[in-house]
Amino acid sequence: MTLAIDPISTSSASLRGAPSDIPKLTPQNSDRLALGLLVIQPSPFCNINCDYCYLPNRTDTRRMDFEVLETIMDKVWDSGLVQSPFSLLWHAGEPLAVPISWYEKAFEIINRNPQAKDYVIHSVQTNGTLLTDKWCDFLKEHEVEVGLSVDGPQAIHDHHRKTRKGEGTFDKTMRGLETLKRNEVPFGVITVISDVSIDHPDEIYDFYRENGITGIGFNIEEVEGANETSSLGKEGGHERVYSFLKRFYERNKADGFPLNVREFQNAERNILEPGWCSDPSGNYYNQEADPFGMVNVDCFGNFSSFSPELLGQPTEKYGSFNFGNLISGSLFDATVNEAFQKVLTDIEAGNRKCAETCEFYDYCGGASPSNKYYENGSFDSTETHQCISTVQMPMQIVLEDMESDLELHDRISPILEQAHPAEDGRSL
Ligand code: SF4
Repeated sequence: MTLAIDPISTSSASLRGAPSDIPKLTPQNSDRLALGLLVIQPSPFCNINCDYCYLPNRTDTRRMDFEVLETIMDKVWDSGLVQSPFSLLWHAGEPLAVPISWYEKAFEIINRNPQAKDYVIHSVQTNGTLLTDKWCDFLKEHEVEVGLSVDGPQAIHDHHRKTRKGEGTFDKTMRGLETLKRNEVPFGVITVISDVSIDHPDEIYDFYRENGITGIGFNIEEVEGANETSSLGKEGGHERVYSFLKRFYERNKADGFPLNVREFQNAERNILEPGWCSDPSGNYYNQEADPFGMVNVDCFGNFSSFSPELLGQPTEKYGSFNFGNLISGSLFDATVNEAFQKVLTDIEAGNRKCAETCEFYDYCGGASPSNKYYENGSFDSTETHQCISTVQMPMQIVLEDMESDLELHDRISPILEQAHPAEDGRSL
C-alpha cells in the first residue's frame, strides 16, 4: 500500500473463535466498530503515470461534486463510527491535480460540523510535482500531514515514475520536495522498492541524508490492482529484500538512527511496547481487516472498506469491491451487500489461519487483506510477500540487533528459528 498513513495497525478479538462463533455483522451489532482512516478521492486523475501504479482510471479527470462531499461527511458523522480522531486522507489519483480553490471549499464544508476540528486529521499523499508555495500555505494553514512519493536518486526514481510521454519526474518531484522544505512543511516520504533499487540500499540511504529526508516508509513493490506483476518477480526476491533492509538498518544504526523508518519503528514498538496497538481484549488491532476501520470513497460516492487499494477494483471472485454508494444509502447498507459479507468472512477466516500458523500474528493481526487477495487469490489465506517484507523481516532484523546488543541470543533465537527455519539450521 502506498499510503502516508501507516496502515499496519489491525485484528479483532472475534477472529480467534471458530467460524460459527462470529455473528454476521449488522448495524445492530456494530457498536464495537470505529473509523480510523477515511480515504477520499477528489478525482481519479493523476498527472503522471508510474508503471507500478495500482490505480485504475488514472486518466479520468472528473472531480467530486461538493454536494457529494457534503453527503459523504454527513453519512460519516451519522454512522456512529467516529469515536476518536481519524485520518482523512486525500488520495487515489494525484490529489494536488485538483486546484486549491476546490479544497478551500471542501475544507469549509467539512469544517461546518463542529466535531471536525477535534476529530479530523487531514493528510495527503502526493507525487510532489505540482507543489507550490501557495500549496504549502494551504497545507500549513490546515495542518495537513504530507506524504511525498519519491523513490531515491534520479536514475532509480525515473525508472518507474514517468510522465505519460515517458519522461522522468525526478526533477519536478525534487522541486516539490525543496518547496516543502523552504516553506517548513513537515513531510514523510514513501519509497517503492523495485528491481532497480533493491540492490542499492547505500545509494538510497545517502540520498535521504543528503536531501534532509528523515521520515520514510518502504513499499516493497506489490502485485496489486492494476499492477499485475512485480518487477521483483513472482518469488518476491526475498533474499534481496532482506539484504536491502538489513544494510539500510545497519547504516542508520551506525549514524545513530537519524532516519525514522516506519517498518523498523513498528517492529521496535511491537517488541518493546507489547500491547501498544491492542484492542480492548488485548489482541493486536488490525484496522485494515476491521469492517469500517478504513472507509474508502471515490469521487462519485461509491465506497469500499478494508484495504484502500480495493476501491473500484473489479474482481471475478467477489464481484465489485464497491459495497454501496453514500449518495443513495448509508455506510451500513454494506452489511446487506453479499460481496461485503463474503469479503469479511474470508478476511476473518484468513486471519484465523494466520493466528493458528504464524508466530508473528500477535504483532501483525493478519496484515493487509488486499495483498492476500492479489497475491494468493483469496482473502482466506495467510502469508504474502508483503507481510514477509514489511512485518516479518523488519521484526527479525530488529530482534537480531537487540539480541547482539543485549546478548539475549538464547532467549530470542527460538523465535527467529520458528519464523524462518533454514535448511542448514540458520535463520534467514
Ligand atoms: S502470515 Fe503474514 S499476515 Fe499472517 S500473521 Fe504472519 S506475518 Fe501476519
